[in-house]
Amino acid sequence: MRLTLEIARPFFEARHDALAARLTGLAPTLEGAGHDAARLARSLADLGLTRLLLPESLGGAAIGQPASPSAVDVRGLCLAREALAYVSPTADSILAVQGLGSYPIVLEGTPEQRARVLPGVADGSGVGAFALTEPDAGSDVAAIATTATPDGDGYVLRGEKVFISNVGIATHFIVFATVDPARGRDGITAFMLERGTPGLTEEPMQLGVEHPIGRLRFDGAKVPRGARVGAEGGGFKLAMRTLDTFRVTVGAAACGMAGRALDEAVARVRARTQFGKPLSDQPVVRSKLAEMATLLDASRLLVARAAHAKDAGAARASTEVSMAKLFATESAQRVVDDAVQLFGGMGVVSGSVVERLYREIRPLRIYEGTSEIQRLIIGGDLVRR
Ligand SMILES: Cc1cc2nc3c(=O)[nH]c(=O)nc-3n(C[C@H](O)[C@H](O)[C@H](O)COP(=O)(O)OP(=O)(O)OC[C@H]3O[C@@H](n4cnc5c(N)ncnc54)[C@H](O)[C@@H]3O)c2cc1C
Repeated sequence: MRLTLEIARPFFEARHDALAARLTGLAPTLEGAGHDAARLARSLADLGLTRLLLPESLGGAAIGQPASPSAVDVRGLCLAREALAYVSPTADSILAVQGLGSYPIVLEGTPEQRARVLPGVADGSGVGAFALTEPDAGSDVAAIATTATPDGDGYVLRGEKVFISNVGIATHFIVFATVDPARGRDGITAFMLERGTPGLTEEPMQLGVEHPIGRLRFDGAKVPRGARVGAEGGGFKLAMRTLDTFRVTVGAAACGMAGRALDEAVARVRARTQFGKPLSDQPVVRSKLAEMATLLDASRLLVARAAHAKDAGAARASTEVSMAKLFATESAQRVVDDAVQLFGGMGVVSGSVVERLYREIRPLRIYEGTSEIQRLIIGGDLVRR
């Protein structure tokens, strides 16, 4: 497997070599866990990867050089996600959502919240989830309608969330609700709810891929004031800051899947003979491989640039982050599709690696902001500058 490290060395200091060496040994552990989400979550901790979700100052690990000891190592996370997605996109998505479900606590959690949640994230005994999307609020995050009504010394939550990854294995949820719908995004507030909170129910959703996900319903779920994460009305900004950090890692995951598809395709066309010679001898086939490899390396460089900007402490890196997510996920879709094409009929046989990747790559163009939303961010920044 060729890691980003090899082509984007200027953005990745030598200290990342240690992680790269560790990541190349992932396959046996993860393949042993198959699609068992809870087992995969524990394996991620055993492999030391969950500690990458936390800054060193909060018990995490940084193998690169993030902006400060209180920042997560975004380049390290990108390397981890690329390597994980190469082997197991399910494990990769579990790690990513662990990050989404803990980063708001890293940023704005109280000492009590940090003590309650972060050690479990590091050792795998706790699993987080990030609950933003609702039936009528997807891309338009500010339209969320789940309410958190102040009540005595706490709040009462009512509403519904959909497409919440890690439902089924999560032990805590970061939930975004409004304390006053009339205030729009300024009313949105974050809360931390533990699994089993009275009034909170979970319901699984089935996707075409192995991905733990489901709905959350809040039917008068009462939480203490201490469950609030950050200030009243600060939830929208907190959600955006979280996404701005993790979105670039979605691009890295896309590179992992595209890299696997390319490797599978190269092996296949070398081995497959038609018209009396290997397919790899056909110029059209080589041309397709060249396109795939170029898209992949361009994606890796965009991801590396955005991750480097985050680690260098850039005040805003939204454009770089959105470009990386947009280009890497759209390119990976094309690379995987081309790999299926190079496999011919074998490419659509259920269970083959490229057939699985064809299903697994699709959601990456949708979650953490669709491709259209990334274009809106990039275009908006260009016009405002
Ligand atoms: C596998 C998976 C995992 C997910 N995990 C989570 C999770 O853990 N937590 C969470 O909160 N959410 C999660 N989501 C939800 C995800 O973030 C949303 O699906 C996504 O933000 C899009 O929202 P939507 O599905 O409501 O689509 P919509 O917002 O209804 O959009 C439909 C289409 O319209 C386009 N569109 C919308 N607005 C505009 C516009 N202004 N201009 C141009 N085009 C536009 C979109 O790009 C899209 O193509 C997950 C989704 C998936 C598929």
